[in-house]
Amino acid sequence: MYWCLIIKSKSHLLLILFFVCFCFNNGLYMEQVPRISEKVEDISRINEKELNQTPELSSNGVEFSSYNLSVIFNPSTSSVSGNLTVNYYNNDPVDFEQIPFHLFLSGMQYVSREGDIDILNVTTVSEPKTPLNFTVDEQAQLLWVNLSTTLNPYESISFEIEFHSIIPDGGLDRANSHGEGNNTIFKFTSFYPMPCVYDEFDGWNTDPYLDVGDPFYHDMAYYDLIIEAPKNITIAATGELIDKINKEATIVHHFSPRSVENFDPLPVREVTFAASEGYKNEWEIINDVNVSTYYIPNSEEMWENNALDYSVAAFNLFNDTFGFYPYSTLNIVEEYALYLGMEYPLQVYASEIIDNYEYSTAVKKQILEKVIVHEIAHQWWYNLVGFDEIDWGFLDEGLTCWSTDYYAEIIHGNWEYFQWTKYYDRVRTYYADEYLPSKINQSAYDLIATSLDWVYISYYKSPLIFEKICRTLGESNFLIGLSNFFEQYKFEIALLSNLQDVFEAFIGSSLDWLFFPWFDNDYIPNYRFTKCGYDENTNKLTVIIADQNETINDYLYSQQVMLYVYDSGDSIIYSDYVWINSTTTIVIPLVDIPYNVRLEYGQDVIAQLGDENITYIESLVDVEEEKGKIFGFDVSLLLIFFVVPLIYLIYKLKIKQKRNSKN
Ligand SMILES: [Zn+2]
Repeated sequence: MYWCLIIKSKSHLLLILFFVCFCFNNGLYMEQVPRISEKVEDISRINEKELNQTPELSSNGVEFSSYNLSVIFNPSTSSVSGNLTVNYYNNDPVDFEQIPFHLFLSGMQYVSREGDIDILNVTTVSEPKTPLNFTVDEQAQLLWVNLSTTLNPYESISFEIEFHSIIPDGGLDRANSHGEGNNTIFKFTSFYPMPCVYDEFDGWNTDPYLDVGDPFYHDMAYYDLIIEAPKNITIAATGELIDKINKEATIVHHFSPRSVENFDPLPVREVTFAASEGYKNEWEIINDVNVSTYYIPNSEEMWENNALDYSVAAFNLFNDTFGFYPYSTLNIVEEYALYLGMEYPLQVYASEIIDNYEYSTAVKKQILEKVIVHEIAHQWWYNLVGFDEIDWGFLDEGLTCWSTDYYAEIIHGNWEYFQWTKYYDRVRTYYADEYLPSKINQSAYDLIATSLDWVYISYYKSPLIFEKICRTLGESNFLIGLSNFFEQYKFEIALLSNLQDVFEAFIGSSLDWLFFPWFDNDYIPNYRFTKCGYDENTNKLTVIIADQNETINDYLYSQQVMLYVYDSGDSIIYSDYVWINSTTTIVIPLVDIPYNVRLEYGQDVIAQLGDENITYIESLVDVEEEKGKIFGFDVSLLLIFFVVPLIYLIYKLKIKQKRNSKN
């Protein structure tokens, strides 16, 4: 998802709130540090691989559930009458007596008409159809279907759910009907009973619709989506339109997610559709994939040609970089929402709200581009590789934000092109005053309990930490790691530890030192100089840098920071990247007498700062004067030029005295 409220005033206020949506050596002694980046580059040559590979669906013999979702859409009531035929495959090593389904619509915002999914009936599939017991828990937004027989592991069971759904009116949430005349959009998301995920961590994940993050967690399944709608309405939906039946006043559309290679059904995590009388449609076929945009007449100036251009550029880049997009369709659809955009498999939404911002057309188009690129990246990091967005929502959002900025780097030559508030500035100064913890690896519930800003965690800190890992490992290595991760976990659910494991397998050594502190510490490093001393006897500068947050964090940070040493004339007499591994002692041989030292954070260092404009810390150097000097004079010179001649004179004088006494 992409969330952004833009505060507007005449004094050009910028984007404010984004939501939802890391001895002696070259004359330098330091503690033993990992030289990972050099090591990684060697390995990368061995592991060069083709990025575009045929998807291997059943590499681990995985089977999927299949759903036939058939609805009749009634625009006058913003509702659908539906039938969901379930063929549920138990991919867990436990027996099930019942299966829960989410009923999310009632949790969404509305103006006058609440969203609702009314369960009418649950029956067996085979004739004669016999009713199955079910319970609806309105509060928990859950339907529990009691199975007729125990469902054993790796077996399937079928039943049908008859339901009626109304989407919220006017509200600007994920599902709604909104707009006027030709510009009305009916957006059907989470509009059917959605099977909950069973996992080893939580058992059944029965979380209700949450206000924090994108509260969605779905297994892959095959879907047929059949929508009967009035003839004058354009439908944009998940999957290929494989059949269209004309009736008297309606058209029955049959959509199904299909393989671009052989047109076989491919699984997705969920389905959605949007309907409007006014939708304009543009498309381009890229490598046989139909990339389409759908927008309302009011947004023609913003969307026409531009939206499709952004979509094609993002699709091509991610397809070439992360891995092969296996489906035959991808829709980018305009919606009404308070946030900027939202991802669903094969169909993403970008909000009409962008058009209403009081910015120049150029800036609004830049925002639209960012949103489209972001939501398309979610096809790789959400749909294809799935995540538990309740427990680890930062993962797909962080990878998606990182991917968006990678697009900015490649397409616009500037990694920070879309960062109206730069990640480095925000993260270095965030909570610097209040000194509150900002650990990334937290669940949506943890974030609610600690009142921690989910927007900050997911849209600023997480992508910055992925960038930190990228710059530490080297970009080409990071990209190979990501594509390996994609190949290994597509169609599955992945954890942060899976991502780390893939990078470690590729690099051949543990990356605990890189992943653990940046994702699991409460605080970022806060460096201070605790000693800066120059010894004129040895001509060595000793610098001790301490991380003030070392004792309150669980893991020690390691990162490279540029160290400058200046003389009293403000000239640089030494500069090099140094590894700071928690509290670090650095000894530098120097002939020139140093005056001050500076740690420059530049563009790569994540460390706490009080002011985003001052990107360094510094300290004066204590100079310990040489013990071999008297009043500043070198003792050896004194000996040579003063004492030796004196002894010689005394010797001469004594000989003269001896000669005189003999005379
Ligand atoms: Zn997102």
